[in-house]
Amino acid sequence: MLLLIDLDNTLIDRTGSFRSWATQWIPAQGGSAEDVSWAIEADRDGYEPRPRLAERIRERLHLAVSPEQMLVDLRAGLVEHLKFDPQVGAALSSAVAAGWSPVVVTNGTVRQQEAKLRRAGFDQLVAGWVISEGAGVRKPDRRIFELGAEAAGLSLADGGWMLGDHPEYDIAGAARAGLQTVWLHLGRPWPEDLPIRPTRIADDCAGAIRGLLHAP
Ligand SMILES: [Mg+2]
Repeated sequence: MLLLIDLDNTLIDRTGSFRSWATQWIPAQGGSAEDVSWAIEADRDGYEPRPRLAERIRERLHLAVSPEQMLVDLRAGLVEHLKFDPQVGAALSSAVAAGWSPVVVTNGTVRQQEAKLRRAGFDQLVAGWVISEGAGVRKPDRRIFELGAEAAGLSLADGGWMLGDHPEYDIAGAARAGLQTVWLHLGRPWPEDLPIRPTRIADDCAGAIRGLLHAP
């Protein structure tokens, strides 16, 4: 059975990773606690374009590095501070052992998203991954879910599941592509203006995967 899974704030704790990096790196550059809070806000949970965020941090802290170097440091720092639940790896292994085909479907750059997958060791545990930059299409476009199925040698017509935290990109997109869905709520209410609802709602990624194995 196909199991498509989002990366940021699903397989890995992206929010925690950024917070960890900012809390350590910014004071090391002479920044204040206020600068740290500002950076966490400016990151917009990863949705602020990276080159723009890197430039804003560089300006705010009056750093003498080039914009290019700041971008490299920002990206590398997030990978270095990557936070994830070890239970997720165990759940992925169980899913594969039970005959599921987990495939990561993520919006982002190939280099950065692959670095995160490798750092967490998830590259060894999944059947494949599709990254929007390489695919030329982003979630919630149906095509990226098709490519995810193809990465596992499957078709959307065979059915399957998508697990993710973003209501529109992960859940509504996958539902429109004919998949069943598990939404990680991360403490947020489901946006009532979305006409689509998730098949299931879960508290955490490992629990969501195990829930599917026990009662698909
Ligand atoms: Mg996400």
